[in-house]
Amino acid sequence: MVTAKAWVLKKHFEGFPKTSDFDLKEIKLPNLKDGELLLESVFLSVDPYMRVYSRIVMKEGDIMIGTQVARIVESKNPAFTVGAFVVADSGWRTHFISDGKGLHVLPSSWPESLPRSLALGTVGMPGLTAYFGLLEVCKMKPGETVLVNAAAGAVGSVVGQLAKIGGCKVVGCAGSDDKVAYLKKIGFDEAFNYKTVKSLDEALRKASPDGYDCFFDNVGGEFASIAINQMKKYGRIAVCGAISLYNDSVPQKGPYVQVSMILKELRMEGFLVTRWNNRREEGVKALLKWVMEGKVKYHEQVTEGFENMPMAFIGMLKGENLGKAVVKV
Ligand code: NDP
Repeated sequence: MVTAKAWVLKKHFEGFPKTSDFDLKEIKLPNLKDGELLLESVFLSVDPYMRVYSRIVMKEGDIMIGTQVARIVESKNPAFTVGAFVVADSGWRTHFISDGKGLHVLPSSWPESLPRSLALGTVGMPGLTAYFGLLEVCKMKPGETVLVNAAAGAVGSVVGQLAKIGGCKVVGCAGSDDKVAYLKKIGFDEAFNYKTVKSLDEALRKASPDGYDCFFDNVGGEFASIAINQMKKYGRIAVCGAISLYNDSVPQKGPYVQVSMILKELRMEGFLVTRWNNRREEGVKALLKWVMEGKVKYHEQVTEGFENMPMAFIGMLKGENLGKAVVKV
């Protein structure tokens, strides 16, 4: 019999999450029935959406939601072989039983040289968010200028590199000088630390005096209100995330964006990457190819140890990650 460890939401987050909001539990797993498989998590993802969705889809005592790369250790399902790796949405647990539904087997073309954890980042959900957000929401065109914030993170770092592949000028901002140096290293044309510039408005103007055609917004709030004023006529804003608002206990107030939107005839569209679930394979294939060709570089912030999941999650929300934050069991 296998005993799984699982992280439970002990108390709904109030403001910034704390380690005391989580509880580590042990769960004895039953023997497999026909059609089932036993999986062992190898890498687990910590993502900003967990902060938002915990309120919407979870009650206190539930296992934390989340995605992992897992190895099949036992199988009574002929469609799955022992030793194969899959991406699963089974929450913060070390072991789990599945009937195989909703599991994504890693592509057979996955090279040995590439960490499997990338299936949670650059070649997984965050990479797909960048891919579909840029292509389908921003509808970027060669020669345009693209702005992205939280640019050194899982989604943002891919956004910038895909925009370069698409023939755009790319401006990115991030919260430390090391992150800014990384952005320049991976090909961003302009990058700055939004925490240390005297004026965000001036920094954005300096980086692109003509303004921005596309704005891939991961941050929302005050940053977005300022950036929207610097869009070009008919600019497109992909509202991907609003991480500057997720931990607020009291909702932030304006400035409001309507006048800029009207005068510049902007298009602003919120989106969820799941809209393109039916094109997942296309996106994964494209991202994997670019990574293999060295056209998309990646960095991962790997926290060792399942017991450190809450710390990795909180650290990511604080901006301690460069690239994708993952936990190695
Ligand atoms: P990241 O890897 O970018 O990690 C989060 C980063 O957000 C931190 O590293 C930090 O970087 C930045 N950050 C934290 N607080 C603030 C703040 N108050 N102001 C500005 N920046 C802040 O996470 P992801 O790439 O996974 O996600 C990025 C965004 O995309 C999130 O908003 C997320 O919710 C959204 N998202 C949306 C999806 C969709 O389908 N719409 C799918 C996936 C993600 P820094 O040091 O630069 O401040």
